[in-house]
Amino acid sequence: MSLHLDISACVRAKSKFSECQKCIDACPESLQLVDNLPTFANDTGVEAASCVGICPTEAFSLSDFSTTEFFFSFLESKVRLISPKFNIPCISVLSIEHLIALALASEEEISLDLSMYDQESILYAQIDARIEEANFVLSSFSTKQLVSNVDTVILKQKKEEESSSSSRRSFLGNASLKGVVKHKKSFDEAVEAGDLKRFALDVDIIRKIKEKTLPDKRKILFTTLKHAGIPDAFEVLPEADVSFISQKFVDDTCTNCQICYRICPTGALTSNGKFSLINFDSMLCVKCRLCHDVCEPNAIQLQAGFEIKEFFEPKQRTLATFNIKRCGECGNNFTYKGGEQTCPRCMIEEEEAMFLHSNAISMKSLLEGKES
Ligand code: SF4
Ligand code: SF4
Ligand code: SF4
Repeated sequence: MSLHLDISACVRAKSKFSECQKCIDACPESLQLVDNLPTFANDTGVEAASCVGICPTEAFSLSDFSTTEFFFSFLESKVRLISPKFNIPCISVLSIEHLIALALASEEEISLDLSMYDQESILYAQIDARIEEANFVLSSFSTKQLVSNVDTVILKQKKEEESSSSSRRSFLGNASLKGVVKHKKSFDEAVEAGDLKRFALDVDIIRKIKEKTLPDKRKILFTTLKHAGIPDAFEVLPEADVSFISQKFVDDTCTNCQICYRICPTGALTSNGKFSLINFDSMLCVKCRLCHDVCEPNAIQLQAGFEIKEFFEPKQRTLATFNIKRCGECGNNFTYKGGEQTCPRCMIEEEEAMFLHSNAISMKSLLEGKES
């Protein structure tokens, strides 16, 4: 099993202004930035699987294990224990969206086996934090919760009970997923230790960078929510406590530079043919923060609370509208903010011309003064 990075899906490849480094923070020992892009050595261990679950755009993946396939095959089986000992390489490959969707889609409670993780490790803290966030979000509209367990005796009993009645073989698909220790060994054997991987941004990758793609984990969550019961009342959760989705507003410092809605990787931010508005679909937002990182006046901002209502009644919101007029000088469309009907570029050119003209007059009078 090896780690893959689709560099075209990384928001750092979309803009040099991106400050995303969730993968690096998740696994600082294995991942690093080179030329502003994340990379890793060929002998990277399975601990790096945490980047698979944390990356907002699903740029990281593992060979021989698909989180999307796992989601469906796990639910089909009777097993309700997710354990690195028998059905997943590492729990950290699952994102918060996966965890919420699994809990919602399962009629029985799901347990997560954390018994083999060092409770002092960064990896354990990350998995624990993801489970906690998933349960926190779930608790705002559902009675379902995930159970994390470190008690090996309970887990052993649970596994034995389930093994006798489950279709484990079918949901695993292949027999290679037999525990993290074996995975780490095969992982390390399968790849050559050595240089860092290099990601060249060739024509194909640049074409893919421009595509808008919604990660599978978001499609899974979206579909699962459609089948979940609608709560009687909708809560609003603090923005800081929800890491995978956001709601936004745009203040009046926005210059309609067009960058945020052109660059948004998922199509959550869009405009119309005249570029006279900014639309936003929260359910398509993966909170990669790229729109914030590229916005020079800091005009696009996070709403203080995330409204759970969005999960059940998603709607596109118009964050800003602009008065588009044709420039009286060059004829191009521009965002009119009052005053002369001249676009910013023509204004700058006019200012430069006036500056050069006044400079020429001062030089002339200086020279005339010297001569007399
Ligand atoms: S988008 Fe994913 S791969 Fe890129 S820096 Fe962020 S977490 Fe890492
Ligand atoms: S919100 Fe910022 S990035 Fe988006 S159009 Fe306005 S100024 Fe540009
Ligand atoms: S709206 Fe902003 S934070 Fe959300 S996906 Fe698009 S660029 Fe990322």
